[in-house]
Amino acid sequence: MSLLIIGSVAFDAIETPFGQTGKIVGGAASFISLASSLLNAKNGLVAVVGEDFEMDFIAELNRRGVDTQGLQVKKGEKSFFWSGKYHMDMNSRDTLVTELNVLGTFDPIIPDDWKEPDYVMLGNLSPQVQLTTLNRLTKKPKLVVMDTMNFWMDIAMPELKEVIAKVDVLTINDEEARQLSGEYSLRKAARLIHAMGPHTVIIKKGEHGALLFQNDEVFFCPALPLEEVFDPTGAGDTFAGGFVGYLASTGRTDFEAMKTAIVYGSCLASFCVEKFGTEALAQVTREAMKDRLDQFKRLIAVEA
Ligand code: AMP
Repeated sequence: MSLLIIGSVAFDAIETPFGQTGKIVGGAASFISLASSLLNAKNGLVAVVGEDFEMDFIAELNRRGVDTQGLQVKKGEKSFFWSGKYHMDMNSRDTLVTELNVLGTFDPIIPDDWKEPDYVMLGNLSPQVQLTTLNRLTKKPKLVVMDTMNFWMDIAMPELKEVIAKVDVLTINDEEARQLSGEYSLRKAARLIHAMGPHTVIIKKGEHGALLFQNDEVFFCPALPLEEVFDPTGAGDTFAGGFVGYLASTGRTDFEAMKTAIVYGSCLASFCVEKFGTEALAQVTREAMKDRLDQFKRLIAVEA
């Protein structure tokens, strides 16, 4: 089935206890598209970059079957730039720089071929653009999944709540779920977010796994305990790409399928953190993904 992906396509500069990068390719939609392209959905990307962007990366997405008709390249403008620094506890990070550049005036143009997608992944970017994208679709999708972050809660909470009210699934990290709901307990936070609109809430807890809430049901998938975590940037987006990519590949939207989907998301996120930026994810093969899925099955299966 078809999956429309929007989100930032960007340059990042990252500092972790293990090293530092110059400008490298990043952005929510970059990680989402790479992850989803490992599954069998038909992927289309709507995003904006400046003239400075590394177009080899877009060629790589095309090689992986991602349709980039909806990518705008703005002459004379700079791509979105984000810089972050992780401390020893890689679950928390400080944003050092956010330069919106082309994202500041982004008007998402949806190609005619993509006005009626089966699934939609609203990756992290301004809630206004997420909303405009939904409004420009001519048919209600089977499932709309949305991701966001504290940056938008701080500067655009009313618009953010307007989009949240229109989506089926919200993926968000634990700290942001607490900020959005004002509740410390993640179970209560999920219930309050559910009341804002989404029938399903996924709370990501970094190296501590992810929780899937729907009505009174809850499912948990751990993160793979890795010997080395190099750079967590993009793990949340990769998770979302694996999650929605799996659902769009199967055409399902039920809770059981979502349980499997968060295992796919966690599996792909475990590759993402092994190198800086998109490097590790770009090298994953379907065979490697299958092997790691088997590791996940062993990690969560019990005899009972
Ligand atoms: P994650 O680690 O999954 O939260 O996502 C990291 C990615 O989000 C980076 O590659 C950034 O380029 C991108 N990003 C950071 N801040 C923003 C923002 N305010 N809007 C859109 N994308 C962002």
